[in-house]
Amino acid sequence: MAAFMDPTWNGRFSHFDLVSTTDERSRSVVRVCDIEIGGDEIVVMAGPCAVESERQLLKTAEAVAEAGARILRGGAYKPRSSPYAFQGLGIEGLKLLRKAREETGLAIVTEVLSEEDVPQVAEYADILQVGARSMENYTLLETLGECGRPVLLKRGMVATLEELLRSAEIIAETGNPHIILCERGIRTFENATRNTLDISAIPVLKAVSHLPVIADPSHAAGVRFLVPILARAAVAVGADGLLVEVHPSPAEALSDGDQSLTFRQFRDMMDDLQPYLAIQQEARQLRPQLLAVSGAD
Ligand code: PEP
Ligand code: MN
Repeated sequence: MAAFMDPTWNGRFSHFDLVSTTDERSRSVVRVCDIEIGGDEIVVMAGPCAVESERQLLKTAEAVAEAGARILRGGAYKPRSSPYAFQGLGIEGLKLLRKAREETGLAIVTEVLSEEDVPQVAEYADILQVGARSMENYTLLETLGECGRPVLLKRGMVATLEELLRSAEIIAETGNPHIILCERGIRTFENATRNTLDISAIPVLKAVSHLPVIADPSHAAGVRFLVPILARAAVAVGADGLLVEVHPSPAEALSDGDQSLTFRQFRDMMDDLQPYLAIQQEARQLRPQLLAVSGAD
């Protein structure tokens, strides 16, 4: 594969020393509780867009755990496009996430919006999410460098991969190498979907960086019927995990109902993914060097 590649292709990423692939460095695995992101297993993170109530969260946590998710997602602090939209339950939401963790054993990923909230969110969450709208909030990124928790860094909706890696480098440079990159769709002229899932971002990021890469088909699609299809595509191109929105009653969701799967749809998605997961996981065990994406050198 290397012979077909322009040797300078990945040169523009190589100045991000801490996050870019080098010959010596094998792939990074981010460990959360007993879960390895970037290892042999493809890790599914699922849950509601926003934590709305105890009942909503606990029911969802149980359903996604039973279907095979390892990590519960749910926003306590919500970055909304409209100032009039639901902004999240804040600390109450974090407490509910902790309760769901205790009851199901799922690890927790939740968004942090500002540097002042980092210590509090780090107390409750296993992974701190940087949303697309915050990808270039450098003060937040620097604070996350010192938070002692893994960071899930989403690609900004108009950010290049180079810019995404620059943000990752800032977190790493301030002391935190435990970073998961997330492709969640970018803004293009196409408006049939909410965003355009940049499917090639996944193998490109894996070629130029040693960090784990996951995909968020929910925010890319914006409509639920596409979510399982994009999830399959992401797994097929080598994603290390998925981030999927699930709600007990999407029609009543306070945010992102149109793209949220019902429990049944999530179960079906997980069942349908099994053959794709099996092939990928087997390939990872048999040919770990594939993960290092040979084309990069
Ligand atoms: C979210 O995960 O709910 C979210 C707000 O995502 P993004 O930052 O990708 O829009
Ligand atoms: Mn959402």
